[in-house]
Amino acid sequence: MLSNLAVRDVETLIHPYTNLDAHRSAGPLVLERGDGVHVYDTEGRPYIEGMAGLWCTALGYSNGELVEAAREQMAKLPFTHLFSGRSHDPAIELAEVLKELMPVPTSKIFFTSSGSEANDTQVKLAWYLNNALGRPKKKKIIGRQRGYHGVTIATASMTGLPANHTDWDLPLPGFLHVGCPHFYRFAEPGETEAAFSQRLADELEATILREGPETVAAFIAEPVMGAGGAIVPPEGYFAAIQAVLARYEVRFIADEVICGFGRLGTWFGSEALGMRPDTLSFAKALTSGYVPLGGVSVDEPLYEAMRAQSLKIGTFGHGTTYSGHPVACAVALKTIEIYKRERIVEGVAAKAPHFQARLSRLAEHPIVGEACGLGLIGGLEIVADKASRRQYEPKAGVAARCVAFAQAEGLIVRFLMGDRIAVCPPLIITADEIDALFDRLTRALDRTADWIRAEGLE
Ligand code: PLP
Repeated sequence: MLSNLAVRDVETLIHPYTNLDAHRSAGPLVLERGDGVHVYDTEGRPYIEGMAGLWCTALGYSNGELVEAAREQMAKLPFTHLFSGRSHDPAIELAEVLKELMPVPTSKIFFTSSGSEANDTQVKLAWYLNNALGRPKKKKIIGRQRGYHGVTIATASMTGLPANHTDWDLPLPGFLHVGCPHFYRFAEPGETEAAFSQRLADELEATILREGPETVAAFIAEPVMGAGGAIVPPEGYFAAIQAVLARYEVRFIADEVICGFGRLGTWFGSEALGMRPDTLSFAKALTSGYVPLGGVSVDEPLYEAMRAQSLKIGTFGHGTTYSGHPVACAVALKTIEIYKRERIVEGVAAKAPHFQARLSRLAEHPIVGEACGLGLIGGLEIVADKASRRQYEPKAGVAARCVAFAQAEGLIVRFLMGDRIAVCPPLIITADEIDALFDRLTRALDRTADWIRAEGLE
């Protein structure tokens, strides 16, 4: 029986990334408020938000300082923009703070309102740069199978997930994908992590050579793949990939939309994984998800190219109304101040071993094939047979069922393609809350195993 709000939802709303048919009968979980790592539904039932919303609410759900920062800025100057010579204090200050934090050479910051817009901007800037450098054919973008970079036409094209391509007439021409660095699922029998990494780098090199290095502008990668399955790359992966990119002057874009701002126990995921990108995209935890804000780092050669283009055509022709929204920038400044003051990033590094130990214990569960992660992010994969790693038919919806059982146990986690389940709690989670999270997830897996037996799926 759907609640009144759920009925009204079904009658009026289109939900992103939702099975719209199943939604009509099941209805949504309608949330009303949050406190710490918990959210509460309209009946007052609490849930541990084991996904930090959508990988973003790093400081949890009741941070009064963030609310006050937004309120103050709204009262003072709720809106102005950065177009044509206009500016404001929060954007200037935030750009200064971010320049200091960036693990890549950064001359300037360009703000967006989302991760999709940040990555879309990266595509345009890579094209723009190559036009300015007099190499207009160098435009192709390489992403990875299961990589996730957003939903605009360009970023969905960079994304390597079928849901973003099928029936959308994507990817656009000029957007290519190389193999997913998921050792558990895609390594050959007997292959070492280093050999697997080298094989993927060789595949990247073969792709660049096949297309012609003079046509390949950029490669984009998340440090830890999020929506593609919470996948940590194997030993030596980025070192091998970077050697290829350097050989063919292919720009390296790190998509830090999930890993940026502490998720892996370092300020940026690139630092945890030995990545040396040319530029970073960021969003989500920049404001702890309280208001939308994203951005990209701009290096000096790119900035000089952008300036030269502005001279030529009279403007840098890109940006949205809300690029660098003052309220969002004020909240981001407060968020970063809290990360520093409360030593949140160091706290993640300290908590991660306990989180990862509890996660890896789930690999012993009869229906779990793999359970691993990095920092405060983890993924597990449900399999039909542990020895052969055989999976259930996608239409059986096993991981979706497990997520529903978790919800009934008071835990929100997310199912992803390939019967994978992601865990990515707020960074402020305590050791006791980590234990409660994994106790509930274990019970959800037990209930899923019972359901599999009852349905005769084995
Ligand atoms: N990049 C990554 C790695 C993401 O996980 C996401 C969203 O989950 C995006 C980009 C897109 O960000 P947004 O949904 O804010 O457009």
